[in-house]
Amino acid sequence: MRMPFRLMMDLGRYMRAKKRAGEKYFPLVLMLEPLHACNLACVGCGRIVEYKDTIRDQMPLEEALGAAEEAGAPIVSICGGEPLMYKHIVPLTEGLIERKRHVQMCTNALLLERFVKRVPPSAYLSFNVHIDGMRETEIEELIKFLTNLGVDGMLVTPGYHYQVLTNDIYLKNEEMPYKFERERKLADDYKLINTPIYLDYLVGERDLLCSPWTTVTRNPQGWKGPCYLITNGHYKSFKEMHEVTDWEFYRTKKDVRCRDCKLHSGFEGTVALDFGKNLKDSWRMVRHYMS
Ligand code: SF4
Repeated sequence: MRMPFRLMMDLGRYMRAKKRAGEKYFPLVLMLEPLHACNLACVGCGRIVEYKDTIRDQMPLEEALGAAEEAGAPIVSICGGEPLMYKHIVPLTEGLIERKRHVQMCTNALLLERFVKRVPPSAYLSFNVHIDGMRETEIEELIKFLTNLGVDGMLVTPGYHYQVLTNDIYLKNEEMPYKFERERKLADDYKLINTPIYLDYLVGERDLLCSPWTTVTRNPQGWKGPCYLITNGHYKSFKEMHEVTDWEFYRTKKDVRCRDCKLHSGFEGTVALDFGKNLKDSWRMVRHYMS
């Protein structure tokens, strides 16, 4: 299996309950950024540019746990900044696991050894280690390298242009089909966890609307809206962020800042919400994740 069975079951149960309750705009993943400081300074990182004036801020523990309660999403991705530098990272992780949230620690892994000595393994805890690539841009080499390391799964996403960055190192829309055609083929033989529907989108064979409300972001400044990438403001509460955001506008990618964006969080969210609507697509998804 490409994804933890319990996570898929919990996510499915949560989505069915939300749909039964008539809710349309509900989150699947909370991106919890308890700090923006980092022990690296990667050239493509928008966070250290956007939050340079508040880079020393750290979210109080109660606020971080409260954000998970407010959003209610079954998956909490703790990111940043480098989350393992957060002073409350151990009680935060343990508190989220106690609340049966699936914690995905998004880390550069420099401090990982110290962390795993303090937090025992759990079916609710996994690690997402971000890798930009090999020295040369060789996606196939990278996938083989990670497979040999024994990773459980790999999520590939096009580099995306944060509104605050001016350097020209990101893929343009027109470059994506060529790059992702080969990756889609590799998904048959390697443990890529992207959905086949999203890969079709990257290759340019189908269109997808965006679902930015499926991945919501909370950082020391508040709830960041409208999405993980672009910032109109930071809001005091999850409810306020929802009330001021015109989700249909962003769903249809009308904002000029959406132009080159095919970020997995917005579009994989759409695929997850559409699961079951089209039998052929749903069967492809089941086969993919069970393989
Ligand atoms: S397409 Fe979606 S995820 Fe990308 S910038 Fe627009 S709203 Fe955000």
